[in-house]
Amino acid sequence: MSGRRSMAPIMPRSVAAAWLSLGLWLAACILSSAAGAVERSARGELRRVLVLHSFGREFRPWSEYARSIKAGLEQQSRWPLDIQEHTLLTARFNSPGPEAPFVDYLHSLYEGAPPDIVLSIGAPAARFVQRYRQKLFPEIPMVLTVVEQRLVNSLDLTDNDVVVSVHNDFMAVFDNILRVLPGTKSVAMVVGASPLEKFWIDEVKQELRPLGKRVGLIWYSDLAFDEILRRAAKLPPDTVLFWGLMSVDAAGIVYEGDIALRSLHAVANAPIFSYQEPFFGNSTVGGPMQMIGETSRRTVDAVNRILGGEKPASIKYETIEFGTPRYDWHELQRWSISESNLPPGSEIMFRDQGLWETYRWQLLLIAAVILVQTGLISGLLHERRRRQVAEVESRQRLAELAHANRYSAVGELTTSIAHELNQPLGSILTNTETAELMLKGASPDIDEVRQILADIRRDDQRASEVIRRLRSVLKKTPFEIKNLELNDTVREAIGLVAAVADGRRIALTYVPASADLHVKGDSVQLQQVVLNLIINAMDAVADADMRKRDVSVATARAGNQAEIKIADTGPGIASGDLANVFNPFFTTKPQGMGMGLAIAKTIVEAHHGTIGVENQPWGGALFSVRLPIIR
Ligand code: ADP
Repeated sequence: MSGRRSMAPIMPRSVAAAWLSLGLWLAACILSSAAGAVERSARGELRRVLVLHSFGREFRPWSEYARSIKAGLEQQSRWPLDIQEHTLLTARFNSPGPEAPFVDYLHSLYEGAPPDIVLSIGAPAARFVQRYRQKLFPEIPMVLTVVEQRLVNSLDLTDNDVVVSVHNDFMAVFDNILRVLPGTKSVAMVVGASPLEKFWIDEVKQELRPLGKRVGLIWYSDLAFDEILRRAAKLPPDTVLFWGLMSVDAAGIVYEGDIALRSLHAVANAPIFSYQEPFFGNSTVGGPMQMIGETSRRTVDAVNRILGGEKPASIKYETIEFGTPRYDWHELQRWSISESNLPPGSEIMFRDQGLWETYRWQLLLIAAVILVQTGLISGLLHERRRRQVAEVESRQRLAELAHANRYSAVGELTTSIAHELNQPLGSILTNTETAELMLKGASPDIDEVRQILADIRRDDQRASEVIRRLRSVLKKTPFEIKNLELNDTVREAIGLVAAVADGRRIALTYVPASADLHVKGDSVQLQQVVLNLIINAMDAVADADMRKRDVSVATARAGNQAEIKIADTGPGIASGDLANVFNPFFTTKPQGMGMGLAIAKTIVEAHHGTIGVENQPWGGALFSVRLPIIR
């Protein structure tokens, strides 16, 4: 039984955890929806805003104001907003069209659920809402915005209306034109043909009357826009273009966005002036103008206050005048307008940033790289200089060391030198004595005496030659590179030791290469190398008390290299020592210094050559020196 009880369904731990988390999630949902409700109630109920556009949503300049106002409302409203937009299409018709169907449409749309506020954008929309207020929105607060003060029908205003109006000061626009381009004689006036645009033609004419004959006005209002473009491309000198409006041209063609202005800018041979910020940037020169920001700020303020319960009648704004003059730097450049012609305090926009502002980081990076490179280069130059100095020093030391080593080598040659000198000196003495004896005789053989004297001279020259060679080896010279013929250089070195070999009964042979071997080098130092190698070879054959005492020297050409080979019939070098013989202070001789081969290696390497040693199969060591051939 107990077994069965234990089989009773017990909720597994993981399922319990799942239930628990589901419960927590539900609780969280309930709490968050409660919080949402609290938040909604804090933000209030949905508010419906009816926006009425004049020509369409994308007609400049109104479109830019509307965009800014909507963005402001969405950002700043304390209530969720339902912005419903409509367009008063009839404003586009050059001859007033029927408005009744649109009024009926709005009426049936809003009869049951009127909006909380009506916002009209532009003069035609303002006129429309004023005219049909009683029928459509008798009690609804209205904000008439982006409207020129002259186009607000003040008699029809009610306590439920707020006006955000602007003032177009055309005289200020023309003052600006004459200020920045004082030579201007005529202004081509680009204005469309819709009723609103026609209204402005008369207004502008009226307002500019004080200009008198100072500037001629050429009106394009009766032309199709295509024709306007054609004329704008061929304007006479000292003419500028004034961009009023171009919503609908004389041919009834409507122009949305900034298409018309961009086309004009592309073809015009004269600068374009306007007074609206939405037309500023890449097209017009600039000057005092209506700024979007101020109108938009006041409109958003009015809507928020009315939705918050404030009485529209208590909300009053001054008419908005032009803002600080602004100019497009590119247009100033294009039309060669000097900045000194601009009114004080004006702002220049879109100025091309200097190289420094545009490429600040890149320039900094380049400067840093150049700095690092300069440091690196000067460091390398310094290193190179140090290396050169070190090379010169090391060559000097090598020369000194070589000199010292030569002294020790010459020490070994003393007997041979004495022998070499003794021979000619002995002959000279004998010949002199013979000549004296002959001259004492009654009839000396003059020819014989002359022969003796010639022998004396020859022996003297031999002795002098021995001394010259010795001097040249012992000379303390700096490392001096010259073009050498290697066969001769080696022969001269052999000449120094030939007598020693003789004295020691060593057969010293020399087989020079058949052709000349031209190398670059210091002859004294190269001779020292050969001398050292020969003396070592002679030591080897002598010490071992060998039956065969041969030292053979040969030169040859091996590819691009000249080779000197010094072979002996001595015992060779123990295989363990082969790698060490060129190390300084390596010696197997009781009186040895162990510097000869180390110096020889250093000298050969300073000549860009190599030195090596091997044991010959038939016994004895073979040293080879290789030097680059120059030709
Ligand atoms: P040192 O002659 O003062 O010993 P070196 O540098 O000229 O100094 O020679 C180093 C050593 O190399 C010698 O002590 C000798 O052991 C060995 N050596 C040089 N040349 C020969 C050779 N031809 N045959 C055998 N051993 C040699």
